[in-house]
Amino acid sequence: MQNKLTGQTALVTGASSGIGTGVALALARAGAAVAINYHSNSQSADEVVAEITAGGGRAVALQADVGQPEDVARLFEKTRDALGDIDIVIANSGIQRDAAVVDMTIEQWRAVLETNLTGQFLTAQAAIREFLRRGPRPEVSRALGKIICMSSVHEVIPWAGHVNYAATKGGIAMLMRSLAQEVAPHKIRINAIAPGAIRTPINKDAWSTPEALEKLMKLVPYKRIGEAEDIGNAAVWLASDDSDYVVGTTLFVDGGMTLYPGFEDNG
Ligand code: NAD
Repeated sequence: MQNKLTGQTALVTGASSGIGTGVALALARAGAAVAINYHSNSQSADEVVAEITAGGGRAVALQADVGQPEDVARLFEKTRDALGDIDIVIANSGIQRDAAVVDMTIEQWRAVLETNLTGQFLTAQAAIREFLRRGPRPEVSRALGKIICMSSVHEVIPWAGHVNYAATKGGIAMLMRSLAQEVAPHKIRINAIAPGAIRTPINKDAWSTPEALEKLMKLVPYKRIGEAEDIGNAAVWLASDDSDYVVGTTLFVDGGMTLYPGFEDNG
């Protein structure tokens, strides 16, 4: 997998933490220069940049709120200024604001929609505009550009107590597929990754005690929690020419979580 992305520039939203960091590090190991977008934690973003540069790579940390069109436009401009033409965009930022439906406030609903769904729309839109503006770079990639949307197993698994989050992930599936259909003729490849349970701050309650982890494993046929690196490895493949004929697909990286694990011993 080494050096499959040499000469390419990637932008990863929400890369100061969790899956975004894992993806940014994996892309850098594969040879890409990487823009590390963060929302509020500049220190974590700087640490990711330092890790990449210490390994001989190129990276820059850039603040932006993906739910704000002006921020997203500025993010792309600054990435280009710092690292050159952009080839790969990972729309990864996401939040949870959980509540039972009867208690969910309109603020909780809107916050999750704004970051998870509007944020991915704005990021993908800016990426498409940028790829079309700069034209082909056949020396580094067969595609005009690659976009990966970070979805979730909850694009197909309903999730009580998280209707705002599940609604955005279901929405991302159709956003991704409709965009992929629209821009594939321009040789822009858009796909999604649907992680299962990955060990990150967003779901700390689900893995930080042995009891919680044991309960979680009942949902995972492969019987291990996922790591950010698992998603990073999938992202490198989806961003490289090895997946050049993969268009408009969601790749589930979930240890089998979507295999109806309740049926495991229901013989
Ligand atoms: P995380 O909380 O560690 O990371 C979320 C990132 O999004 C952070 O870097 C945060 O700064 C950023 N972010 C939040 N609001 C933002 C905004 N307005 N603008 C820009 N960035 C913003 O969680 P994670 O687990 O790494 O989640 C990353 C993505 O993976 C999310 O889309 C999440 O839904 C998805 N996902 C995670 C899991 C899991 O098990 N961890 C499973 C399925 C899907």
